Amino acid sequence: MSIQEEFGSLVFSSKTMSKYLSSKIYQSLLATMQNGSALDPSIANDVAEGMKNWALDHGATHFTHWFQPLTGTTAEKHDSFLNPDYEGGVVASFSGKELTQGEPDASSFPSGGLRATFEARGYTAWDPTSPAFIKKSIDGVAVLCIPTVFCGYHGEALDKKTPLLRAQTALVKQINRVATLFNVPATTRPYATLGPEQEYFLIDADLYKERPDLIQTGRTLFGVRPARHQQMEDHYFGKIRNRVLSFMAEVDRELWLLGIPAKTRHNEVSPAQFELAPVFEEQNLASDHNMLTMEVLQNVAEKYGLVCLMHEKPFAGVNGSGKHNNWSITGPDGKNWLTPGKTPHENAKFLLVLVSIIKAVDTYSPLLRASVASAGNDHRLGANEAPPSIISIFLGEQLTDIIGQLENGGAKSSKVGGVLEIGVSSLPKLPKDATDRNRTSPMAFTGNKFEFRAVGSDQSCSNANTALNLIVASALDEMLSVVESDIAKGTDLHVALQAVLQKEIKAHKRILFDGNGYAETWKKEAEKRGLPNLVTTLEAIETYRDPAVIELFKKYNVLSEIELKSRYAIDKENYFLVIALEAECALSMAKTFILPTAISYAAELADSVESMAEFKHAGVEKLAKKASDAVEALIVSIDALEDAVKKDSTKEKIKTMAEVRVQADALEEIVPADQWPFPSYADMFFIG
Ligand code: ADP
Ligand code: MG
Repeated sequence: MSIQEEFGSLVFSSKTMSKYLSSKIYQSLLATMQNGSALDPSIANDVAEGMKNWALDHGATHFTHWFQPLTGTTAEKHDSFLNPDYEGGVVASFSGKELTQGEPDASSFPSGGLRATFEARGYTAWDPTSPAFIKKSIDGVAVLCIPTVFCGYHGEALDKKTPLLRAQTALVKQINRVATLFNVPATTRPYATLGPEQEYFLIDADLYKERPDLIQTGRTLFGVRPARHQQMEDHYFGKIRNRVLSFMAEVDRELWLLGIPAKTRHNEVSPAQFELAPVFEEQNLASDHNMLTMEVLQNVAEKYGLVCLMHEKPFAGVNGSGKHNNWSITGPDGKNWLTPGKTPHENAKFLLVLVSIIKAVDTYSPLLRASVASAGNDHRLGANEAPPSIISIFLGEQLTDIIGQLENGGAKSSKVGGVLEIGVSSLPKLPKDATDRNRTSPMAFTGNKFEFRAVGSDQSCSNANTALNLIVASALDEMLSVVESDIAKGTDLHVALQAVLQKEIKAHKRILFDGNGYAETWKKEAEKRGLPNLVTTLEAIETYRDPAVIELFKKYNVLSEIELKSRYAIDKENYFLVIALEAECALSMAKTFILPTAISYAAELADSVESMAEFKHAGVEKLAKKASDAVEALIVSIDALEDAVKKDSTKEKIKTMAEVRVQADALEEIVPADQWPFPSYADMFFIG
């Protein structure tokens, strides 16, 4: 079979549906999937029957509702299709009810206080906008997966998909208002788009097994950066080694079977770091696909004797991993609304959307920062390898110029010449290259989309996109209300637009920054501009308690106040848990591996001093003293970490863990390599 034929063969796509469903049922289901409406209960049994037959043909014996609880990962519970026929045999069955609704016990999933444990019931409900698929393990075990939302007994959202869908609904409502204003023909349902570029590390599985820190926390808590790391800049886009290329080829194929349009693969900046980028899709589907992509990467790695590390910062001293969240809007005309148009009318629409994003990001930058907050991502943001924790927008020279002119009373000319006025002439075509050079900006306009670069590599995209949809919906809502009311009073559309754009640019231009986001001077400048710099997770998530933010979520029906507070509680709890886990792991590694090794080496040296005493070698004595001092310093730092763990102080755990690391890493540099208890960074960076 050609890859074109194989693409999506594990998806209950419209092509597959047309084979397994009657034409009437097929049409009805297709309409449901396209408008995002609820499934007609009268066809649920027939749809389930078709889906089951398709799954059985693929060797699946089980189905699962596949959902995204607040743990940030995916969850599944398998039920078989088989039921006894009471004649000693079995029949395979799958009802409409089993397809559309499930009742997993919700009590063991985090709810952030949303649901007391005695209200254990949770419900999963099919999200027909994301098609069912068959997941196969590396040994070929096939399971039918039905993407679902997950909520509590009273309908409270217990997952990450529900708010994303709700925020998309809020955004679509505003997009439709814009469409009405500009008489945009409606040929499709508008939607937000997402293309998440995924970074990851690969290391040899045998080495991984010897690193308790990687196994338990996903990152190395100790380790010295080797002489050769990323400074030669030869890994990025370098030749892909054979073993990695075979791995990548298999990942691509697995993704294609799942209908995931994997497109680009390459070496990243750090040694042993790589990236995979798909073609963008409708946001909810793209978000599901990204969750699956992470799973496929990890599964296929196993087959190649590798481990795929998704952590934001697995190795200190070299770049960490993120996700570039490419976001845009497809209007009801099926066109990308962040592409500057060819007609004046389209340009006016483009500028309205663009300015709404500027307003949105400036008004709610702490929310965007909070949407990517985690203990892992704290290591990356602001470390001069990923955007700083100060949120700003990069527009590029030409758009900045146009925005500047709008602010000063209407754009009359553009940088490339010609006359430009909203609704009067056309915008210059923005060369993509000219806009995509600033890699330090958290939110960069890249020609026809915004790239939000602060998302962490192992995070679900849903939080960030929920926030993006919601804040843009709110900004558009406010701006449209003004424009619509001006028009009702007889003002010309373009005059009304000019006024509102000018006002909003003046109010929010402080968020625009095209310079170097890594520079120290930017921190000072941002502070002068009043832009928040929320360095840690704990600072960032406080925004969920801001009354304006609570009101925002409530107003657009994305999360109620208690639902939002539950996210705050979970993020906070997770943060503490991660630090606690790291601290305990660091303590045990230091005490039971590093210290004994260091002591025996120091003792060995002391013995050498004694046995070579007659030669009076000052060098050996110096070495022995150095090793023995290092052991003492390590013991002092271990005691401090132990205290911090006993006191359960998160702040002190972070501080003392860093101190233990300094001492341990200093020892790693003097202890003979074959005595060191863990594989070194140099060992792990090299994939043979
Ligand atoms: P780069 O950002 O490295 O210049 P591309 O522009 O090719 O690379 O795109 C990077 C990612 O952006 C890809 O995953 C791509 O599918 C996605 N992307 C492109 N257009 C859109 C869009 N309209 N909406 C969302 N994502 C998009
Ligand atoms: Mg990119």
